[in-house]
Amino acid sequence: MKRIGVLTSGGDAPGMNAAIRAVVRKGIYHGLEVYGITGGYAGLIHGNIEKLELGSVGDIIHQGGTMLLSARCEEFKTKEGQLKGIEQLKKWGIEGLVVIGGDGSFQGANALTRHGFPCVGVPGTIDNDIPGTQFTIGFDTALNTVIDAIDRIRDTAQSHERTFIIEVMGRNAGDIALWSGLAGGAETILVPEDDYDIHEITDRLKKSHERGKKHSIIVVAEGVTSGVEIGKQIEELTGFDTRVSILGHMQRGGSPTVFDRVLASRLGARAVELLMEGKGGRAVGIVDNKIVDHEITEILNATHTLDKNLLTLSKELSI
Ligand code: ADP
Repeated sequence: MKRIGVLTSGGDAPGMNAAIRAVVRKGIYHGLEVYGITGGYAGLIHGNIEKLELGSVGDIIHQGGTMLLSARCEEFKTKEGQLKGIEQLKKWGIEGLVVIGGDGSFQGANALTRHGFPCVGVPGTIDNDIPGTQFTIGFDTALNTVIDAIDRIRDTAQSHERTFIIEVMGRNAGDIALWSGLAGGAETILVPEDDYDIHEITDRLKKSHERGKKHSIIVVAEGVTSGVEIGKQIEELTGFDTRVSILGHMQRGGSPTVFDRVLASRLGARAVELLMEGKGGRAVGIVDNKIVDHEITEILNATHTLDKNLLTLSKELSI
C-alpha cells in the first residue's frame, strides 16, 4: 500500500484532529502518502481530496472539531453513492481509508470494504456508544466540559437552595450522564438504559430536604426525556424551587484532554498499521488500556452497554 486516505464523518468530537495527525504522521513515517478527504462522505463523493504533508497537521493536536470538516450524507447510504466514492479514491490512487467517526460512519466504512475497498474505523464520538472499545475519542473531553458546568451550577444551587436539572447529550447511551453525574455528585442520574420512577425521585428529594439538604443536582440524558419536563414534574410534586439547564452543543467543542489526545494518537496510528498489514474492514478500540481491533461487522452487530456496576455505584453513593 502506497497511498491512504483519511476522513472524519458524523458528529464532530474533540480529539478527531489528534487522530488525523496520527494517521498522517504515522503514514508518512512508514513511507506512505496520506490524502485528506474534506467534508466526510459527501466530500468523498465530490472528490474533495488533497495530499497532506507533515506540516498540514501541525498545530492541530490541541484543537477541537476537525480540520477535515464533517458532514452527513444521505447519498452515501446508497450503493451508487458508495461506488462514486470508490471511483474518486481510485482516481487519486488511494488504496485504503481511515474513517474517524461514530457508528453511522462505520456503516459507510463497512459498505466500502464490502465493495472491495479496505477501510479501518476509528471511534470518534463524545457519546462513548461504540461497542468494542471502552472509550471513544472525545468522551473524556465532553465529560470534563460537563463537569465544569455541573460544578458551576452547584455553586448557584447551593447558594439559592434550588434543585437543578442538568440535561446532557446522549440519545441512546447514558454514558455522559452517568460518568458526569457520578463525578459531579448528582443525587439522581437518569439514563436511557434504566427506568425511573418520578415519585421515587421526589420522595428522596423530600427526605434530603428534611435532613437539611436544600439543594440537589439531577443529571438527565437527553434520550430519557427533556430536562424541562422532569423539572416541571419535580416542581409540581415537591414545590421546591427548580431550575433547568440544557448544556447542548457546548459539550461537543473544546480543546481535547490529555486522555483524548493520547487515545486518538494510539488509535489513529494503529489504524494505519492495520491498512499496511492488509487488514481492511476492522475497527480499532481500547480495552483495558490495550489497543485492539475487531471486524467492523462485529461492532455493527453488537450493542453498546452501559457499565451497570457504575450505575449501581452512583445509586449507592447518592443516598
Ligand atoms: P455518526 O458517525 O456520528 O454515527 P451518522 O449516523 O450521522 O453519524 O453517520 C454519518 C454518515 O455516515 C452519514 O451521513 C452517512 O453518510 C454515513 N452512513 C450512515 N449510515 C450508513 C449506512 N447504513 N451505509 C452507508 N453509509 C452510512
